[in-house]
Amino acid sequence: MASPTTSELLELTAAGALRRIDEGELPADEVFDAYAEVAAAEELNAYLWRAEPGTRPTPPSADESEQLRGLPVAVKDLFCTEGIKTTAGSRILEGYRPPYTATAVRRLSQAGARVLGKTNMDEFAMGSSNENSAYGPVLNPWDRARVPGGSSGGSAAAVAGRLAPWAIGTDTGGSIRQPASLCGIVGLKPTYGAISRYGMVAFASSLDQCGPLTRDVTDAALLLRAMEGRDPLDSTSVGIDGGVELPSREDLGGLRVGVARDFSHHAEGVEPGVAETFERSLATIEQLGGSIEEIELPHAEHGISAYYVLAPAEASANLARYDGVRYGLRVDGVADLVAMYERTRARGFGLEVKRRIMLGTYALSSGYYEAYYGSAQKVRTLIARDFERAFERCDLVVTPTSPSVAFELGARTADPLAMYLSDYFTVPMSLAGIPAISIPAGLAEPPGGGTPLPVGLQLAAPAFAESRLLDAAHALELAIDFQERPA
Ligand code: GLN
Repeated sequence: MASPTTSELLELTAAGALRRIDEGELPADEVFDAYAEVAAAEELNAYLWRAEPGTRPTPPSADESEQLRGLPVAVKDLFCTEGIKTTAGSRILEGYRPPYTATAVRRLSQAGARVLGKTNMDEFAMGSSNENSAYGPVLNPWDRARVPGGSSGGSAAAVAGRLAPWAIGTDTGGSIRQPASLCGIVGLKPTYGAISRYGMVAFASSLDQCGPLTRDVTDAALLLRAMEGRDPLDSTSVGIDGGVELPSREDLGGLRVGVARDFSHHAEGVEPGVAETFERSLATIEQLGGSIEEIELPHAEHGISAYYVLAPAEASANLARYDGVRYGLRVDGVADLVAMYERTRARGFGLEVKRRIMLGTYALSSGYYEAYYGSAQKVRTLIARDFERAFERCDLVVTPTSPSVAFELGARTADPLAMYLSDYFTVPMSLAGIPAISIPAGLAEPPGGGTPLPVGLQLAAPAFAESRLLDAAHALELAIDFQERPA
């Protein structure tokens, strides 16, 4: 076979590119160079930093068994990269160049991948639309008047918009799965503890988890395999027992798939196009030999309320470190130290981050701690138990990923609650620490009419059952055969 043209090359999955490289049809460096060119000329505001075309970083000599052959990877700007600016989407980190690299990124380079760029994101990963970035919103490649989702919106838009073959992001309450859904790609949040958090700018440490955003399920498995594992630098990391197999399943025979009607259907604000696509996916599951089991997740609908106490509480503690002394921005010109802190934080943080710090500080304050933080922790435990019980009756749980398709820029910025509800379906799995993946399930018209937009299907599995999750997602992906691409 002849070597692919640049536009063919940009359509390949990472596994597809690797195959052609191994077969000698594609020089490995060509892939990096082609992406560096398109990333340099991009118009989605997906990148905050890019490798200069012509200046390919040399991957450290990779382990032969896990060669990613110098393939480019886009990295959310939440991961520390030695000597490369890392902003977490915030002004307060302007000018910060980390002295070390996050373990997830280091593992990818050890496997032979090269960092193509750092992707735009909601400030400190707080948001569902990328509009909370201090560096401007990212545009959705399917419709540039719409959001790509968030907070890993730059990573999702880059992969969907052919500006990167694959990317990594982070998910605290939905930040990989929801943008993957809105951009028509695959997004996996692994089990909490599967991948090291070392070198990830902390938002809510008991929830934050790194994961892949890719064009298909096999690519997600490849990235997960390269990144997972115990890391002495993150005591909460344990890795995935037995590692990660590449998915091969083509049917769902014998698999019991749980649907919680109460949770998935009565949710206010599920768009008709999303509900229809979900029903179609359930029919596909049955055609593939899976059985649909009615299950109950009685506390899942309270996930958002619990999450928006717990995540801000943890964030208020984590973000205390930005004091104008240790990192990035400092607003000087005052004699006293406390005033310097205040001015730096007032100028450096955006509105949503300030809102979360205030919420979190309040929820943790003495006299209110039990009423807010304590109650939210109890709800978290109840949700985790809901899943444990559900998994006695089924192997996987499915829900829509997002109640809506990509919404218009500005549509939810004035209404934080409407924005928070974007994560209605994704937050419970985060609270329970279990793995969940979003795959494209079809296209649906937005409520007001217009160009059809991607709809995601979410599958969740018990902790560390990533192989089961990826296998089922792979079978469904084959059957759904989502071929549509942004123009
Ligand atoms: N959208 C949610 C939030 O704003 C989730 C973000 C995330 O997963 N990082 O907190």
